[in-house]
Amino acid sequence: MGRRKPEALIGLVAKYGSSVRKRHGRVVRLLKKKRQCPSCGSMKFRREVAGIWTCPMCSYKLADGAYDTPRLERAR
Ligand SMILES: [Zn+2]
Repeated sequence: MGRRKPEALIGLVAKYGSSVRKRHGRVVRLLKKKRQCPSCGSMKFRREVAGIWTCPMCSYKLADGAYDTPRLERAR
């Protein structure tokens, strides 16, 4: 078995081109990643809309990247 290539998520049909599908899969995986709330430590910290990250437990809100939280990772 060789090294696995980054695969597109299932559910997408043969459309839009392979690199766009792979990029979409990467973004979706990033969004599904568990994140810790910097305020209360809950793992429910997630993206509300592009660039707005929010915690449902303590309603802490943070402006960061559209698909990931690079500023939050750097601060840690
Ligand atoms: Zn919180």
